Order: sequence, then C-alpha cells, then structure tokens
Amino acid sequence: MAHQWRGVIAEYRDRLPIEDEPIITLGEGGTPLVPAQRLSDRIGSEVWVKMEGVNPTGSFKDRGMTMAVTKVAGQGAEMLACASTGNTSASAAAYAAHAGLGCAVILPAGKIAAGKLAQAIVHGAQLVAVDGNFDDCLRITRELTDAYPVALVNSINPFRLQGQKTAAFEVVDALGDAPDIHVLPVGNAGNITAYWMGYREYAGMTTLASVDESAAHMEPVSTKVPKMWGFQAAGAAPLVLGEPVSDPETVATAIRIGNPASWKYAIEARDESSGQIDKVSDEDILAAQALLAAEVGIFVEPASAASIAGLLAAAEAGKVAEGQKIVCTVTGHGLKDTETALTGREIDPTVIEPSLAAASEALGL
Ligand SMILES: *Cc1c(COP(=O)(O)O)cnc(C)c1O
Repeated sequence: MAHQWRGVIAEYRDRLPIEDEPIITLGEGGTPLVPAQRLSDRIGSEVWVKMEGVNPTGSFKDRGMTMAVTKVAGQGAEMLACASTGNTSASAAAYAAHAGLGCAVILPAGKIAAGKLAQAIVHGAQLVAVDGNFDDCLRITRELTDAYPVALVNSINPFRLQGQKTAAFEVVDALGDAPDIHVLPVGNAGNITAYWMGYREYAGMTTLASVDESAAHMEPVSTKVPKMWGFQAAGAAPLVLGEPVSDPETVATAIRIGNPASWKYAIEARDESSGQIDKVSDEDILAAQALLAAEVGIFVEPASAASIAGLLAAAEAGKVAEGQKIVCTVTGHGLKDTETALTGREIDPTVIEPSLAAASEALGL
C-alpha cells in the first residue's frame, strides 16, 4: 500500500524534543536524493543531489519551521516574527497560516526575490521592510521579541535546528550510511550546524548545538560521519575571512549574510569533520545554477548553486579524491527567483504562423 510521508516530526519523533503538543506540519521533508550522473562524470566521484526545493514552501526552512511553530503554538504564542532573506519568511508565513497564528516578517528592503515576497504576502504575513541588511533585521527581530509577546522563529530558536537535522537522517536512511563528503551553501550557518548535528547523532555522538543528549544513547544508525564542506558567496564570506562583513553583497540573496548567528557551530562542523568552508564567486554560482538545470534537470535558486559551484571548483583544484560518495544539498527552488535565472538570456521565442512547416523551419528540422 502507498505510504504517505507524514512530515519530519512524525517520521523522526524519537529523535526530536517533542512532547504532547499538537503537531503543526505541511508534510515537509522526505525530499528526493537524486543521483546526478553527468555531474558525477565531471567530478570523477558519485554525486547525489538532495533536493530541498521540493519542500512545501520550496526550501529546507520548512524542516525547522514545523518544529519551531509546533513549539511556540504549544506554548500559547499568538504571533511569530522572523528576520529573513526571503525563505524563512515564506516558510514562517505558511506555517503560521496553517496554525492560525499571526506572523511578522522583517526584511531587508529591495533584497528579496519576487517569488519569496509573493509567498509571505499570500500567506497573510505582516511585512516590515528595513533600510538595512539581514543582520540589521535579525537584531531588530531579537529586540522586538524580547520586548513584546511575539515568538522568535529564526534559526537562533534551537528547535529550528532540531527540525533541520532530519535532512542528514534522510541522507543516511537513503544511502545506508553517511556519505564521504556533504556539500552545502552557508549563510547564517544554521543548516551546516543542523546537518552536522544530525550526522553526529545518527553515529551516536553529540555536538555543541545538541539540545539534549538522549539521542547519543540511542543505537547508532551510521558507521561514520562525512566531511562537511560549506560554501559562502565571495561577497558575503565572513567564515572564510574570519571576521564579520559589514556590507555583504551577492546575487545569491539567501546567503547574503555578514555575521552568521551559528558562527561557532559552523566552525565546529568544519574542524571536527576535517572539512572546509570556502567561497565561490557570483559568476561561478550562476554558472553552476545553469549547469545543474541543463545537465541534471534540477532548477535551483542561486544560493543553492553555491554547493555545486564549490564542488566543481574543488574538483578542478584536484581536492576531490576519486570514488568518493558526495551529497550536495540544493536548498531552495529555482522558481523563487526567475528574474536572476533569466538575466542575459533570450526569452522571447520567435512567433510563427500556425503551421507544421513554420514550426519545423523555426526548429531547424
Ligand atoms: C536559508 C538559506 C540558505 C542558508 O542557510 P543557513 O542555514 O542560513 O546557512 C541557503 N540557501 C537557501 C535557499 C536558503 O533559504
């Protein structure tokens, strides 16, 4: 009989800090892990793509949002708030709508992709645009949630990372063990923290960010953990530079962050896993986005392509040993930001008269 995926809380309940609160879910998680043959051929290794754009609101943020909103609703909150580069607000707005709660989103003015803004609006969130960057928005949101009865659902809410760690569980469950290398884009650094927590917990270990240690006492599922490879955009690469960037700039708006909230956890993930955090140029990000769409059939938003761009650059530099099993997380759907994807492309097809002859001529057949 067909099995319907029940959302990450129901699927991984024994590994999440959930009590008897009603679960707020839109069926997030259970996303495809797709073998990418042509990418594997280029790299000389076995490359898999974890398609997080397939989540209910089109990004991995839903994994954390089901946990955060379940918790704050269970504690009686009536309104949530988040700072966002776009996807957190899209997710918060949808889960708040599902739970019947209010939602305030604090956004950097003019820096949100149109699709993401549309999501926050249609789900009924209250939008506040700030003349500043994401880091300013996060500071204001923290102050707002301290001063008023409004619940914070950014990834500094520890329940967000608990939900997001389930992506690592899914990878291990699909492959039978952890991969050799896990590659992902890094912005506020919550996701790399969450994956590292998930991989460690499945191997019977804990991390700095683990909220309880009970998971460490469960039977290990995996025999190893992967090297964590994170990639930031060159114009927003504080973890690579070793200091905050006051004016982050990149076409990949979802990782346009100058002072990551989960800084120390990301460094732990890098160092404990013998991994790396490096940077990729906007040009390479857009080239990787185009390549993934044209050669693998997966359309992602620019930030997501940072993982692919980073892997390609590492392979070119001879840093990828042959025969590795590599998982790349692509974090958000390409339809969220079609404007960037179509920049510089021919998008007006030739108009022909309605006949086979004209169609075949236009196709050069
Ligand atoms: C949020 C987001 C990121 C960055 O994740 P962090 O946890 O902030 O490092 C990357 N890509 C997309 C599409 C996102 O929405």
